[in-house]
Parts: sequence; C-alpha cells; structure tokens
Amino acid sequence: MDDYENRLEARGIKPTAIRLLVFKVMLEHPQAFSLLDLESKLETVDKSTLFRTISLFHEKRLIHSIDDGSGSIKYSVCNSHCTCSLSDLHVHFYCTRCKKTFCLEKLSIPKVQLPDGFLPQSVNFVLKGLCRHCSE
Ligand SMILES: [Zn+2]
Ligand SMILES: [Zn+2]
Repeated sequence: MDDYENRLEARGIKPTAIRLLVFKVMLEHPQAFSLLDLESKLETVDKSTLFRTISLFHEKRLIHSIDDGSGSIKYSVCNSHCTCSLSDLHVHFYCTRCKKTFCLEKLSIPKVQLPDGFLPQSVNFVLKGLCRHCSE
C-alpha cells in the first residue's frame, strides 16, 4: 500500500482509505476508464464521493482526462513524472470496434505552428481506428 500512498502524497493528495481504494482500481485498468467503469467496480462507494475523488485527482494531476469523442470523458493515471503541461501530452487512440481508449505515452503530440496571437492551453489529440487486438 505504501507505493500508492507515496504516489498520492507526491501530488499533494492526503491518502485516505477511500482515495487509496479508488486509485488502486484506476491502476487496474490497462486502458483509459470512464466514471461508469469505476462505478461498476466500486459499487460500495457513494457516487458523489467517487465523483469528488476523480475531480480532486484530476485537479492535482494524478490523472488526465481524454475526450475521445465517444460522448463520455475518459481518464487515465499519469505517469509519475508527468506534469500535464503541453509538452507532456501524448497521443490517444480510440478503437472503434472494442471502444477502448489507449494512452500512447511514447508518442508526443506534433507541434502545431499557430498564427500570431493564438495561445494554446490544451490539446486533445485522438486518433480513431482499430487497436492492435481488433486489427488482427
Ligand atoms: Zn479494439
Ligand atoms: Zn493518456
């Protein structure tokens, strides 16, 4: 449990029992997860508590959010050196067959040369297609 505690504390989050439980379930997801995915695995946790926990984790940059165009926001746990700055952002991939969203952490987002006066604050770079499993 120590490692989980350290990871929360490193982001300035007080590691309460419920937060540790939610974080553990998040880490069990090999792909990005939605609020609904968490709800189904954490049936004993009150929905508003769960929602507040996700919001806190997001605000403290323990997790990042992905709008994959599926209509529900997905989340994924940030790696420990991620600061969620524009240069830390990576490509996401949405599989149109299995509906899973993948973090492609090794692929950074290509630099876009914006016209003068445009100041980017966030980027949402999502590719859609078939994942490794579905394209076989
Ligand atoms: Zn797939
Ligand atoms: Zn990601």
